[in-house]
Amino acid sequence: MSRIAFIGLGNMGGPMAQNLLKAGHTLNVFDLSPAAIKTLADAGAGVAASAKDAVGDADIVVSMLPASRHVEALYLGEAGILAHIKPGTLIIECSTIAAQSAITVAKAATARGLAMLDAPVSGGTGGAIAGTLTFIVGGDVVVLERARPVLAAMGKNIFHAGSHGAGQTAKICNNMLLGILMAGTAEALALGMANGLDPHVLSDIMSKSSGRNWALELYNPIPGVMDNVPAARGYSGGFVVDLMLKDLGLATETALSAQALIPLGELARNLYAMHSKSGAGALDFSSIVQMLRKSE
Ligand code: NAD
Repeated sequence: MSRIAFIGLGNMGGPMAQNLLKAGHTLNVFDLSPAAIKTLADAGAGVAASAKDAVGDADIVVSMLPASRHVEALYLGEAGILAHIKPGTLIIECSTIAAQSAITVAKAATARGLAMLDAPVSGGTGGAIAGTLTFIVGGDVVVLERARPVLAAMGKNIFHAGSHGAGQTAKICNNMLLGILMAGTAEALALGMANGLDPHVLSDIMSKSSGRNWALELYNPIPGVMDNVPAARGYSGGFVVDLMLKDLGLATETALSAQALIPLGELARNLYAMHSKSGAGALDFSSIVQMLRKSE
């Protein structure tokens, strides 16, 4: 069992850290939110006064932060924690960030004798709680084998996408598709409801027809159709609109760097941007259906 420093205990990091505790690892945790820290302390984790203090005697560091700027600020620069992590330690960075940020931080870590993986996840808060996440890993395969037992305590599927940054590129392709699928699923359900269909019935029909997809079957955006999804709890406790917007922005950057075409990804980015600007940025992204149903 390892001594793990876990930084970032939000909607995803909180339950991921809980699963590491359940697997028998010793955890030292840090977050900017006292409430998030308390939940983990109650579950048996040690609490550090800062990220720097958390990593001091760790064998493994796991981070799960919102975006590139948080990850770069955590690891790099004079105030960064890389300088406080002992050589030989393994860093597993699970946030969804720009591939270039992942490469920059990994290079700085390697220069200090630290092993690092980008290991963004898919599966939502449900997957984080159940320990069934998919890890999409970039970095050295030998390092991935070292990380595998820790990843297996939090997830079910572990993929090696390629070298540093490749995990992030694959994750962004997936999340661009998710953003498009959720907007499309919400649009189809809103269309049916505007024409008098029961969303339960329409969801059942489409789940057994060619429109079936993850957003429809496991993360239905209409309140009342499904239990244990953000739509069932006022669009809280999921993947917020502003994080989806961040990921679609990363998709745009990724497309620009390769001169790739992403017409639907761009359209989805604009839809979530409009929804965020209307005040919905902190709601789960499945709330996009509210914007589409406003005219009803
Ligand atoms: P969140 O906002 O719920 O959690 C982020 C946590 O990081 C918060 O508790 C915040 O206090 C903490 N934090 C921010 N800066 C910090 C710092 N400098 N030091 C310590 N703690 C700090 O976000 P989330 O939904 O848990 O998402 C985290 C990452 O996972 C994001 O990159 C997101 O894109 C990705 N992701 C989310 C989901 C999802 O369904 N929520 C699914 C897959 C991937």
